[in-house]
Amino acid sequence: MESEAGRLVVLSGPSGAGKTSVVRALKEDPRVEFSVSATTRGQRPGEVDGVDYWFLAREDFEARINRSEFIEWAVYNGEYYGTLRSQMDQALASGRHFVIEIEVQGTKQLRESGVPGDYVFLVPPSLDDLRERLEARAANDPDDIARRVAIAERELAEAHLYDHVVVNRSLDDAIAEVKRVIGIDGVAHA
Ligand code: 5GP
Repeated sequence: MESEAGRLVVLSGPSGAGKTSVVRALKEDPRVEFSVSATTRGQRPGEVDGVDYWFLAREDFEARINRSEFIEWAVYNGEYYGTLRSQMDQALASGRHFVIEIEVQGTKQLRESGVPGDYVFLVPPSLDDLRERLEARAANDPDDIARRVAIAERELAEAHLYDHVVVNRSLDDAIAEVKRVIGIDGVAHA
């Protein structure tokens, strides 16, 4: 039986671009494994250790940085976040795509270290559209929306780091496009 090697897929995009919905669709595909990042930030209600994140103490995280256990790591909002090399190696060896959803600093590190993969940037059709989407989410207050739009503007300037820029005009088309560029379009055979 032919066995194909899996690929690393790096997925990023500004908050409000529709990443969560794309991720949800990809999670249903058996050819894809999602990274469980490690972090030092506190566990939120409902989050499960080993499912949403590996919640680590700072000393533990720093010891793992020194042992080169992360393919990339970043400090975001004062806390460490990183992708574990061991999980990626296992997923790729099993022939599945290993998808990591990270912010732009992490992508820069991966590019600088020459890590091969499909780098996908999901963007809104415009900043006005992004603002409207954030306003439609009950979760974000006006200051938070303004901050996220400002961050999005800076992030959009980093589109050159990615191989594929997918514009989310309609969710179904965006999901199909992401699947096509990472090579899992067509019917999944579990
Ligand atoms: P949150 O605390 O809201 O779960 O995540 C904060 C930010 O950290 C999000 O932008 C998320 O994409 C990013 N993030 C989560 N895991 C990782 C990781 O392993 N590496 C990097 N570089 N960013 C991550």
